[in-house]
Amino acid sequence: MSLVIGLTGGIGSGKTTVANLFAAKHIDIIDADIVAREVVEPGSTGLQAIVEKLGSDILLTDGSLNRSKLREAIFSDSQLKEWLNQLLHPMIREKMQQDIAAAQSPYCLLVVPLMVENNLQAMTDRLLVVDVDEAIQVARTQQRDNVPTAQVRRILASQASREQRLAAADDIICNNGNGDNLEQQVTKLHLEYLALSRQQNNTPQC
Ligand code: ADP
Repeated sequence: MSLVIGLTGGIGSGKTTVANLFAAKHIDIIDADIVAREVVEPGSTGLQAIVEKLGSDILLTDGSLNRSKLREAIFSDSQLKEWLNQLLHPMIREKMQQDIAAAQSPYCLLVVPLMVENNLQAMTDRLLVVDVDEAIQVARTQQRDNVPTAQVRRILASQASREQRLAAADDIICNNGNGDNLEQQVTKLHLEYLALSRQQNNTPQC
């Protein structure tokens, strides 16, 4: 079993950018957002349960889940949202565990945007937080998503605070600088994680 490094950070902090830099070093990436889509793929038990609950109107013509319709439905119905979370969260956790078990690189990265909010650090051996000053975070998110400042600020307010995330961190990447600076921090951590994974593999086990 690979060493599991959790990667998290607020919206627009640079998680995807950081994960891509680790992937370029041939590290396996398990991304919670991708897993969340996989558990409701056509033919999945997740999608089947949603159709049983909401009817086939929740599907697009190609048989895939109509995500915006589902988002609308849960926005106005907190019980439905709770039902959906209870259905999908265990499925997502189980699939992430399977992907971790199948990882081939010396350590793997588990990218979970809401890691601290959903208390998923227990699935990891170490937590790496991407930290960034709020003004830079808002500006980068706005530029990437082409959305108004107020919308970005609303999302920020709904997520864990910078302090809460940092309190849970074992390692921190500061993403206030440029791409070169980010790459240097990733390379340094990569070497540390390789050393840790060697240590883990040398530890006698029963
Ligand atoms: P997240 O996955 O945490 O939401 P992203 O990795 O998508 O964040 O980064 C948010 C935006 O900021 C993207 O457009 C990305 O290209 C840009 N970005 C990330 N890091 C830097 C950096 N160091 N310098 C400039 N732009 C950056």
